[in-house]
Amino acid sequence: MIPMVDLQRQYQALRGEIDAAIAEVLESTRFILGPNVQALESELAEYLGVPYAVTCASGTDALHLALRAADLGPGDEIITTPFTFIATAEAIRYVGAEPVFVDIDPRSFNLDPDAVAAAITPRTRAILPVHLFGQPANMPALTQLAEDHQLLLIEDCAQSFGARVDGIQTGSASAFGCFSFFPSKNLGAYGDGGLITTGYTPAAERLLKLRNHGSKVRYHHDEIGYNSRLDEIQAAILRVKLRHIDRYNAERRRVAARYAQALAGLDLEIPHEDGIGVHVYHQYTVLTDRRDAIMAALQQADIGHAIYYPIPLHRQAAFDDRTRPPPSLPVSESVAGRCLSLPVFPELEDAQIDAIGECIRAALA
Ligand SMILES: *Cc1c(COP(=O)(O)O)cnc(C)c1O
Repeated sequence: MIPMVDLQRQYQALRGEIDAAIAEVLESTRFILGPNVQALESELAEYLGVPYAVTCASGTDALHLALRAADLGPGDEIITTPFTFIATAEAIRYVGAEPVFVDIDPRSFNLDPDAVAAAITPRTRAILPVHLFGQPANMPALTQLAEDHQLLLIEDCAQSFGARVDGIQTGSASAFGCFSFFPSKNLGAYGDGGLITTGYTPAAERLLKLRNHGSKVRYHHDEIGYNSRLDEIQAAILRVKLRHIDRYNAERRRVAARYAQALAGLDLEIPHEDGIGVHVYHQYTVLTDRRDAIMAALQQADIGHAIYYPIPLHRQAAFDDRTRPPPSLPVSESVAGRCLSLPVFPELEDAQIDAIGECIRAALA
């Protein structure tokens, strides 16, 4: 049995530190917006190289709060990718703005900058790339487009914690970076959690209020906000895990390199590193025309696998506005029909990767 992710092994390795960190919070009985959240936020700001890091309750909330802080709303168009988790575009709808889905690059699965350029209209206000599966989107090209057209660049970094472009962390060189600490993400809590990064002081102050009922001074509410705080227990756990994140991401890259050997010569496309940044392999996703056969073999061998994502967002009922047909985005549709994600986590052993390779080799023979 090989699972998609094995959080058990990571917990066992860190058990002493994590249990002590949780016990300390329980003893202190400070559970909301206390010393761990404050310390984590400065440690995250330092690690990511950003002036402000504001934690919140989830990655979905991070996106929502960033769009609120950017004052995006009805009438505004935000260009994004359809090949992502629904939260990316849900957040756009939460503020009443319009997600404009454009096609992806067939090899990196990230937003195609030419498709973004072609979709810009007078109502476009922002570009929202996702660093999908841990590989940075084409930030140099998207940054240039944002500058040329005076658009905000807001990054969905839910899958890219620790990924860098030219030595710079994803989420640190745009208006906002939005991260998730969902347990299976590269930096995962033991529950929900999220983070927004920004370099803009008024935006950071706005985010601090939005996550806490629109309040800076207790019982003074400047606007309608939310209850979207990271709790102290999760913050304490994340402080322990943050110290290990570079090693975890290096191990994920080791896993990917081993897969490349184990899958060599097979009739499938392994992940393509486009060299724009450093891929941190949140997922290891191959493309194959024989997905059903491979999935049946993996199922039989009790090896984890998953399709991320089977239906691109422009084809989801939730985004069907019933007034016009969904756009035709052939690359996203083709990739959704052929993608298959294999187990990847820092503790995955070379021998297990080789066994997964053998299983797939036999299925394709
Ligand atoms: C996980 C994820 C989110 C949402 O994060 P949550 O913490 O689960 O709310 C958003 N975007 C992408 C691309 C994700 O993978």
